[in-house]
Parts: sequence; C-alpha cells; structure tokens
Amino acid sequence: MTEALLGPVEVRELAERLGVSPTKKLGQNFVIDPNTVRKIVRLAGVEQGDSVIEIGPGLGSLTLGITEVGADVTAIEIDARLAAELPNTVRAMQPNASDRFRVIHTDALDLADHHLATLDANPTALVANLPYNVSVPILMHLLELIPELERGLVMVQAEVGYRIAAGPGSKEYGSPSAKAAWYGDWSIAGNVSRRIFWPVPGVDSVLVKFAKRSTPLGSETERARTFELVNAAFAQRRKMLRQALLPVLGQARTVETIESAGVAPTARAEQLSIDDFLAIARCEK
Ligand code: SAM
Repeated sequence: MTEALLGPVEVRELAERLGVSPTKKLGQNFVIDPNTVRKIVRLAGVEQGDSVIEIGPGLGSLTLGITEVGADVTAIEIDARLAAELPNTVRAMQPNASDRFRVIHTDALDLADHHLATLDANPTALVANLPYNVSVPILMHLLELIPELERGLVMVQAEVGYRIAAGPGSKEYGSPSAKAAWYGDWSIAGNVSRRIFWPVPGVDSVLVKFAKRSTPLGSETERARTFELVNAAFAQRRKMLRQALLPVLGQARTVETIESAGVAPTARAEQLSIDDFLAIARCEK
C-alpha cells in the first residue's frame, strides 16, 4: 500500500506544480521513499489517537505517514507556499485525515504558547525530518516549550545526531548532548540513505530517538542555571572547570562550589554528565 503516501514522481510533480525549487537555506530535502516514511513512523511508536507535532512538513511526505496510522498532526512550516498547499495535499491523498491535521505557518523557533493555545491539547510526540542548519536550536526550543512531549523520532544530519546522542567522555560529547540529556534518553535508531531525498543532500542523515525521563531532573530554575554552567564549561572546553566556570560562579566561590558538588575542579567539560552540572548548580550559595 503506497498510494496514500508521496513517492518520487508525486514529490517532483507537486513541487513543479507549486513552482517550488528546494532551497538549501531552508534545508529543503524532501523524502521521496514511502518505505522510509513508514519506518520512521514505526520507530517513533506513533499510533492511532496520538497527538504529534511535526516540524517542517514540506510537501507532506512524512505528514501523510503520520496521518496514515490515525494520529493527529500539528505541522509547523516556515515556507508560506508549502504551508498553504499542505491541507490540499492531505485532503487529496487521505480525505479521512483532514480533520486530524492542521498547519501553523511560522518559524519553529518562534513557536510560542499562543500557537499551542489553539490546539485541544499539547502534542505528546515529535516526528520530524528537521532542516539541517537549525535542527539543534529547534529541538531545544520544543523541549523547553512543550513539557508534554514524551517521545520523538527526528531525522538529522549524521554528525549532529551523533552529537545529540553522545555521552560524557566521547569525542562527540558537547553542550547539545548535555542539554538534550536533561530531558531524557537519546539514541541512534538508524542510518538513512541519501538517495531517499530529493534533492540528494551533500551530507548523511541518521534517525535519533528520544524518550522523556519519567521524572524531571530538576526545576525550571535549576535547568536554566544548569544550562548556563554547560554553556560556560563548553565555551572553554579545553580549560579545567575551575577556570572555565569562573565567569559564572565568580572568583571567590568557583573551586569550593565545584568541590562541594563532588566534582574535581581540574575536570574538563567533556567529562561531566548533566547530573554533575546540576549538582554544581545546586551547590551554589
Ligand atoms: N518533512 C518533509 C520531508 O520529510 O519531506 C520536509 C523536510 S525538509 C528536510 C525541512 C523542512 O523544514 C522544509 O519544508 C523547510 O521549509 C522547513 N523549515 C526550514 N526551516 C524551518 C523553520 N525554522 N521552522 C519551520 N520549518 C522550517
């Protein structure tokens, strides 16, 4: 059964009809393979009745995979032409899904409570083929904005995916890894061939899976302060913490605060888990 999804011919025809030439600036590489779409939806664990947020629906390749299983989709698209056409595509391809689908035309980085207030309830799952150059800021913004998100499956540039899923001590570990870990577990769920996109991108992609923590690591105030420490530590990642954290903890207290958190002041950012950063934030007087 592929007729309810977009294949290579439909994607190109649709783009041509709309006069859309994909732009690199907006990371417009559209999925042209229904098998990949169904794999993403399966790995995301999306089922009938789920409420999904999709960032960058584009021509609707992934959107139709999500509506196909009976889930609700709220799609956030920055490109006015694509946002305007999407309801028509859903209606034409899956007439029964129209009332389970809505599109919000905005930059995902500007998505705010007033947009979400128009929904019956906040989405609990995120499924997206994210635009390459803003994938991490978009993820961070959504995780902060929508605490109801329980799980997700995102397609990102391979390098970025490995960075998000990395743990302390690995060479990919950085501030995106530490911050992502605040919210939950991240793992690589698979590789994606470049050939399933049109146009074919110049980089490899991976699927990254997210599962929210069962209990939050800390309060919102603690999160904000912990992220300040993460930013400062990784801004000078080759320096020891006693040096790198000086701008945020102050000359008088830096070593004492780090030590009372049970962390060595001589450690470097890449050795610390998000729990270590939180412990330091909690030891501030
Ligand atoms: N989901 C579609 C698919 O898989 O074929 C398209 C994915 S394409 C990689 C990324 C999409 O994100 C494009 O439709 C692009 O216009 C949109 N986009 C880029 N930047 C965005 C932003 N800041 N906010 C919302 N959408 C954005």
